[in-house]
Amino acid sequence: MRHFTTGKYKSRAAARQLDHATLAQGAPNAILAPMAVLTFTPQGIYCPAGDFHIDPWRAVDRALITHGHADHAHPGHRRYLATEAAAPVIRHRLGDIALDTIRYGETRQIGGAQVSFHPAGHVPGSAQIRVEVKGEAWVVSGDYKLDDDGLSEPFESVRCHAFITECTFGLPVFTWAPQAQVAADINTWWSASVAEGQTPILGAYSLGKAQRILAHLDPSIGPILTHGAIENTNQVLRAQGLPLPATIRVTPETNPKDHPNALVLAAPSALGSAWARRFGPVSTAFASGWMRLRGIRRRRAADRGFVMSDHADWPGLNTAIRETGAERVFVTHGYTSQFRRWLETQGYDARIVETEFEGESLETPEAEPAQ
Ligand SMILES: [Zn+2]
Ligand SMILES: [Zn+2]
Repeated sequence: MRHFTTGKYKSRAAARQLDHATLAQGAPNAILAPMAVLTFTPQGIYCPAGDFHIDPWRAVDRALITHGHADHAHPGHRRYLATEAAAPVIRHRLGDIALDTIRYGETRQIGGAQVSFHPAGHVPGSAQIRVEVKGEAWVVSGDYKLDDDGLSEPFESVRCHAFITECTFGLPVFTWAPQAQVAADINTWWSASVAEGQTPILGAYSLGKAQRILAHLDPSIGPILTHGAIENTNQVLRAQGLPLPATIRVTPETNPKDHPNALVLAAPSALGSAWARRFGPVSTAFASGWMRLRGIRRRRAADRGFVMSDHADWPGLNTAIRETGAERVFVTHGYTSQFRRWLETQGYDARIVETEFEGESLETPEAEPAQ
């Protein structure tokens, strides 16, 4: 699902015509006081004091990027700033861009704003971005999860006055089982599938989810074959030192008979495609937080659904928000109206902001690079 930023403009085209100067004067910002550290513009989240945007979805002069997923790292900006750990994937996806890097926890002055990046625990290299102006600190969470997945830099709580948080899974039904339990279920399904003469094909986003699963597969069961989109990302992450098990890239020449007992890790779009047919009788599965909902599992046409997300679950969202100490919370993408109401009952000044972040979508997978 894609959202537009503000109801003030009747169309994206109309909004696009607004020039930067108009925005800097705060024209489209009906939500916040003029002294806000961050405002919400048709281009994305904007810092007037530092004249930069965070994860903008339309071309801007200076973009601070939380992580490399396609709904956050868009092409076309003049200058980029991201963590050292996120930079290789962002370069891999966006090509030759003017990308400056920053270490986690390092403070940098940009105009009248101090910025720093802090681990978000979402995918390797992902960050929350803290922006401080005149002693007032706001944090943009980006996408995040609190569980340590063993590969991503673990989530760090950052104190702030205002917290802008995703709430992809902002309903109590979304509660994740421990990672080790889900990993054991996946390995059991792998063994059972090969015992029944089927090739297990597991769909997972190419950045983050795929590597997290890889790190927990049991290679004693058999070899691991990977779809090209996943293997390309593996190569980038291995080159920066992430420990991933051995994998075999699937090419047009790949003969499944040469790889008995294999598990195939595929991009979500490859499930049920011609690409998957070469493997003969298959057992398909998909790993996503949405697998918590039965109806979605059926529509996804996968035989199995594993509930595993790189986004915070309901308890995670609540813990993260509490630990910031923020009084003001802006919620975006996901169950925003329900989650905002819940936060109000908990005493927060909670508001909804519309962004074009897609969260963990089944139809337009966040992790797939724009072609
Ligand atoms: Zn993401
Ligand atoms: Zn996202």
